[in-house]
Amino acid sequence: MALVVQKYGGTSVANIEKIENVAKRVINTKEAGNKVVVVMSAMAGETDRLINLALRTSEKPNEREYDALISTGEQITVSLLAITLDKMGYKAKSFLGYQVKIVTDQNHKEARILNIDTETITDELKRGTIVIVAGFQGVDIKNNITTLGRGGSDTSAVALAAALQAEVCEIYTDVDGIYTTDPSICPKARKLNKISYDEMLEMASAGAKVLHPRSVELAKKSSVPVHVRSSFNDDGGTLVTKEDKEMEKVVVSGITYDRDQAKVTVVHVPDRPGIAASLFTPLSDQNIIVDMIIQNASIEGYTDLTFTVSRKDIDEVKKIVETVARDVGAETVEYDENISKLSIVGVGMRSYAGVASKMFTALANERINIMMISTSEIKISCVIEAKYTELAVTILHDAFGLEKEG
Ligand code: ADP
Ligand code: ASP
Ligand code: MG
Repeated sequence: MALVVQKYGGTSVANIEKIENVAKRVINTKEAGNKVVVVMSAMAGETDRLINLALRTSEKPNEREYDALISTGEQITVSLLAITLDKMGYKAKSFLGYQVKIVTDQNHKEARILNIDTETITDELKRGTIVIVAGFQGVDIKNNITTLGRGGSDTSAVALAAALQAEVCEIYTDVDGIYTTDPSICPKARKLNKISYDEMLEMASAGAKVLHPRSVELAKKSSVPVHVRSSFNDDGGTLVTKEDKEMEKVVVSGITYDRDQAKVTVVHVPDRPGIAASLFTPLSDQNIIVDMIIQNASIEGYTDLTFTVSRKDIDEVKKIVETVARDVGAETVEYDENISKLSIVGVGMRSYAGVASKMFTALANERINIMMISTSEIKISCVIEAKYTELAVTILHDAFGLEKEG
């Protein structure tokens, strides 16, 4: 008897009819002879609504209470699915993060899963129960409710699949797999049959929201195969799996964009040891993730330091950076929230030359200016003006021939 973990995203559980559709899928999987653990997201738009309520109540909501509030969307969907399955004659039980127990660290809003107690779930599965777990939430060692970051129920699902040694973790969403780029902005996007963990991790970290980056990291670490598919049809989706020889032949597998970035430039900073540390240490102390960093060449002992952060962190970043800039004697700090990060990803990049120049040429031909560049072994990212995002994605999709297979 195989164990299957199925995760259903917001659009798949958006109303009672859709939850009935989920129940039917779960029953089919169970009737095919599997043990089933279901991970649910909140109804589409619900987490946004809850966040909005918190922000209307306070400019800076208490983090413990914020997590307690925004995790409630999942409580609704898990119990609705359990009620539906019960009505259909199946034994089902819903569980919240603290009931399972999904233990996380204490970093509210972006907590990381430390451990999952599998006993409750395995006992229920032995009794033939369909187990339904609330995604996106956990509990810290002091019994506070935590949340895993937006889109985090993918991570709940993969972490459960890893802890329970499931055969597969199926991620049901509103697209029928992972595409060469976001199909909602590029009609020529092509569905991939499979993609390596490393490529998917780079795509997810670079903004492809189809999978939460932590979920891919965990899947890779525990070798859990992840199958991304649609909850609205039976088509085979995309398998996220170990790299194979075939994958290396493809130079660029996908293109992603991230509009949630902001650029910060500290202007005219004295060029001396310790300046970068004095800027980035207080940011990391506040768990603010700095993505790209460039330091210009020094002119007469002064330099400019530019970096990008997530736009949601910009208010906190402003407070910290203004103080440091004053302390180190910088001239001024400039902010640009009108940017977008564009990335091309592919394991084949490791063995082919000329990928970066092809990217830069394609952007130059459309007169799109590149403000920042960063590279990893299998990814090249450029920061551009936000208004060119869709155009840039489309021209790069054409330039690298992603419409056609292989
Ligand atoms: P869910 O609510 O099911 O978790 P998400 O909205 O988080 O769904 O993720 C699915 C969305 O991800 C799709 O609707 C699509 O617009 C977007 N997306 C971005 N990049 C890609 C990609 N490369 N392939 C597929 N979908 C992508
Ligand atoms: N409901 C949460 C969110 O909207 C988690 C998720 O959907 O994965 O971010
Ligand atoms: Mg999601």
